[in-house]
Amino acid sequence: MSSPYAAPVQALIDELGRLPGVGPKSAQRIAFYLLQAAPEDANRLARAVVEAKERITWCRRCFNISEGELCSFCLDDRRDATLVCVVQDPRDIVAIERTREFRGRYHVLQGAISPIHGIGPEQLRIGELLRRIREEGITEVILATNPDIEGDATAMYLAERLRPLELRVTRLASGLPVGGDLEYADEVTLGRALEGRRELDR
Ligand SMILES: [Zn+2]
Repeated sequence: MSSPYAAPVQALIDELGRLPGVGPKSAQRIAFYLLQAAPEDANRLARAVVEAKERITWCRRCFNISEGELCSFCLDDRRDATLVCVVQDPRDIVAIERTREFRGRYHVLQGAISPIHGIGPEQLRIGELLRRIREEGITEVILATNPDIEGDATAMYLAERLRPLELRVTRLASGLPVGGDLEYADEVTLGRALEGRRELDR
């Protein structure tokens, strides 16, 4: 199928269309916005993308995004290393930090179990979590996956894997909007869910 646009324009539209939440119409609109923008504005965007990709990597301990080998939370000695909050996504850390209720460390699974999308436990950072529990003297793991089907399935799976180990396993209290992402929960609700976390049956 031939495109009505010059090849570089079509390439730009195609790339923009791959972004989450950007449909074909939006991709065209953004592409034409960029074509009409001042060169320095478009270049600034391009540079920001390149720089973020070059400078940001995964923390080798908790798999949060990080500028160095370890993220700022893993480097902060004032945080309680025995308490680890397990989340699906680095954005969830931002949500939990907003509550100011949590002074432990994190572990980012980088997703949730989702048979529909072909994501099984082996694609998540679960092996790395088990290794941390063995090596770092962790005494409590808070399962803070999203309050939806995939997040619950992931928490149940983890609870099962952690059951034989000598540690406290807790889940955020209910009260979070069901089906929503953790990152969209307001800090008061999320703070309460964190404070009211309950121990899972052993
Ligand atoms: Zn880290």
